[in-house]
Amino acid sequence: MHVYLHVPFCTRRCSYCDFAIAVRRSVPSDAYVEAVLAEWRLWQADPVWQQYPSEVQTIYFGGGTPSKLEPSAIGRILERIASDRPVVAGAEITLEANPEDVSLAAAAAWRAAGVNRVSLGVQSFDPAVLTWMHRTHTADQATRAVEALRFAGIADVSLDLIFGLPAALKRDWFRDLAAALALGPEHLSLYGLTVEAHTPLGRWTGRGEVSPATDDTYAGEFLLTHDTVVAHGFDHYEVSNAARPGHRARHNSAYWQRAPFIGLGPAAHSGFGEERRWNVREWAAYQRLVAGGRSPQECREKLDDTAVALEELYLGLRTSDGLPENLIPPADALAWEAAGWAQHEGGRIRLTPEGWLRLDALVSSLLPATTCL
Ligand code: SF4
Repeated sequence: MHVYLHVPFCTRRCSYCDFAIAVRRSVPSDAYVEAVLAEWRLWQADPVWQQYPSEVQTIYFGGGTPSKLEPSAIGRILERIASDRPVVAGAEITLEANPEDVSLAAAAAWRAAGVNRVSLGVQSFDPAVLTWMHRTHTADQATRAVEALRFAGIADVSLDLIFGLPAALKRDWFRDLAAALALGPEHLSLYGLTVEAHTPLGRWTGRGEVSPATDDTYAGEFLLTHDTVVAHGFDHYEVSNAARPGHRARHNSAYWQRAPFIGLGPAAHSGFGEERRWNVREWAAYQRLVAGGRSPQECREKLDDTAVALEELYLGLRTSDGLPENLIPPADALAWEAAGWAQHEGGRIRLTPEGWLRLDALVSSLLPATTCL
């Protein structure tokens, strides 16, 4: 079992972000702990614990900005989870953090609470780009945050960066990537910018004030990313993630392997086999429901065979482990190989970086076949 906690609070919405967040100058840590533990209590009576192993393998605080919570809040949540369910020795416990929140004291408190992995939202080291993104930290704060995490004994540090920015920003992607690598992270999450309609970026683009990166720029930066991280000894193990050997993100890998997971907090999703559940998005609605002893779940669905097959294809092909060869029609596999989009090795088909650039299209092209699996 894997546990995800969505912490919805941010002090400002980033220009590209359409996540379920609640913008708050001051974060209600106590109210959050109370609400999320009320939901956790509701989960204790769920039959899912009889169907799946109850040992917790990974815990992930995502958001939003979990680092805005009081560090003691993290400790109280982890204590409760461990007192109700066995947490395996060496469980991966990740906290997403924004650089401006990482002081020596906070990092030490997180480590003492049991956090052993921090995913830091750096995005860029270019001051003009950070301002354009509405980020609330500086490049120097990102560097100092990594130092503080190391000093506190956090052995697994992941840095998030965004590529594929509009050309008008004149962002030097290679310089940002090199600056991140110079900080010696164990893991990198590297996302291409996407324009979502209901964001400041979506509005700027709609009004013609911003032109998104061209497909060629996006592809060029993605391929440069692959070559650079591999040259630095990283394993590019998923389309958006690269790790030093032994440092793949276990929590995210569990999603890609379709392992069971419980999601707590507003907008959190849970999944068990073919079943999916998700919570109401709004913090206030979520808080009201759990305070009244009611489930915050907004919906449940059962994936049909086609949806399961599609999910398996999509999740498998996004990782460097790929898929067993019998899941891809031989004619497609041969065509992909001939085009340089896939490799066939050890009975598995895995996409190359050129293939990852076409991931959606390649999965879609298999759909008629998947209905017959
Ligand atoms: S900090 Fe993260 S979750 Fe919050 S607004 Fe920015 S991108 Fe969205």
